[in-house]
Amino acid sequence: MQVYEEAETVGSTWYWNRYPGARCDSEAYIYCFTWDKQLLQEWEWSERYPEQPEILRYLEHVAKRHDLRSNIQFNTRVIGAEFDAVTNLWKVQTDKGEEVTACYVIAAVGPLSYANTPQLNGLEKFNGRFYHTSRFPHAGVDFTNKRVAVVGTGATAVQVVPEIARSATQLTVFQRTANYCVPARNGKVDPDLVKARKADYDGIIKRIRESRGGFEHWPIRKSALQATPEEREREFDRMWDTGGFAFWAGNYQDILISQKANDLCADYIKRKIRERVKDPIVAEKLIPKDHPYGTKRQPLETNYYETFNKDNVLLVDASTDGAIEEITEEGIRAGGKEYEFDIIVFATGFDALTGPLKALNLKGRDGQRLDQAWADGPHTYLGLSIAGFPNLFTITGPQSPSVLSNVPVSIEQHVEWITDCIDNMRKTGKAIIEAAQQAQDEWVARVNQIVNMTLMPRANSWYMGANIADKPRAFLAYLDPLGVGGYRKRCDEVAAKGYSGFTLA
Ligand code: NAP
Repeated sequence: MQVYEEAETVGSTWYWNRYPGARCDSEAYIYCFTWDKQLLQEWEWSERYPEQPEILRYLEHVAKRHDLRSNIQFNTRVIGAEFDAVTNLWKVQTDKGEEVTACYVIAAVGPLSYANTPQLNGLEKFNGRFYHTSRFPHAGVDFTNKRVAVVGTGATAVQVVPEIARSATQLTVFQRTANYCVPARNGKVDPDLVKARKADYDGIIKRIRESRGGFEHWPIRKSALQATPEEREREFDRMWDTGGFAFWAGNYQDILISQKANDLCADYIKRKIRERVKDPIVAEKLIPKDHPYGTKRQPLETNYYETFNKDNVLLVDASTDGAIEEITEEGIRAGGKEYEFDIIVFATGFDALTGPLKALNLKGRDGQRLDQAWADGPHTYLGLSIAGFPNLFTITGPQSPSVLSNVPVSIEQHVEWITDCIDNMRKTGKAIIEAAQQAQDEWVARVNQIVNMTLMPRANSWYMGANIADKPRAFLAYLDPLGVGGYRKRCDEVAAKGYSGFTLA
């Protein structure tokens, strides 16, 4: 086995995303590997949602402990891979000029790794410095006495904005779409709770694997519309006070299906925003108007809304103040007005899920290119495999639960499934496994049929590919009615039936 990694060390997302305030949004006790049972007992996380350096330290520790580096070639980018139907091998090219052959290619390129820096007119003229949050300088950036712009108000911006506001002379946040942000409620975890969790890790692992979103939260088994106003308020308060993904994954079961149920939940968050932001005009700008709650990734916040009460923080909202028109030598022109900056931080997200896979320049049977096969959006079988691309697997790829889950749970599920599959291929003397076109078409139809029963398509979200100009509008993940547990069961059933839906040769 040979692993190629573009970075100089392990860590992936936690290697690249070094912006101030970067921390996980899943609770650390379930945002870790579950296959090293001893490490689950030994490792002590410093808080509920640890910061990027701590997560990177953990990943480096795991790599060292299991001697993983010896199989990884660092500082190497894969720039192409082509399937050879004569030899049944993949030819993989790297940016170091190497070409290697492989029976299997496993694309573990991450769903959120291909940075989206908007192609704004004039960026090359800007006299100051600019950074994308996912490519932040390792030495950090000193914002003291600086006039800073943050472009974007997604999960990353919601983490970075309060941090920059502490030291910048002036921080201006450019918002294209307001978001429903929910408190993270970070802090030290009660040592008794840590102890109890360590004593029950087998139970925890079972529960998150069978859960809806890979968390220990389960939906309230009734409609929000059936609850009395008092009961609803109690439940919303409970989830709000719990913090984190309790609000999304543990909400009423019809929150993502019924607009009326969703409105009740959205109104609760809107009230919270109005309570926390002192200037009512700013509060109204921060209140989402164009999409239902939960149809965009819910950012977790710590003092995000209060940051807009500070004298050195200004919100420029595209719909009320005017959209960004261009970058000038001195800063940003929006709504006909020029704002001057020393530093621009682009918290503008990613070409999610399909972007990193297309960047591999994959060619399957008959030289078919992945970007052509996916011209109208992703087509996969189970989000694991692609018809016409034999012996290629994707980890947390498009049309799997991936970004709609606590991602380590989904990563481990795919890794285990693919490992078992390759093992089975060896034992049964098979050389080729390939998704059948019909099974793939049925999977794509299922992905779309389910999402179309929800409110998700009503948002111009990156889940729908709507954040990137020219990207086809298509739902990029998979929303199983029974969550990651239901999806796991389906994948396991396919394997148990001799890999039904695949052609084996
Ligand atoms: P994002 O959610 O896509 O947010 C990007 C922001 O930039 C949005 O507000 C977007 O506006 C804005 N934007 C994009 N292009 C723009 C343009 N040309 N002009 C003006 N504004 C523009 O990206 P992200 O915040 O980096 O988060 C991406 C995902 O990464 C998250 O949803 C989450 O899954 C993951 N993440 C995880 C963590 C964690 O677990 N700790 C932290 C951060 C991020 P629109 O909304 O209008 O498109």
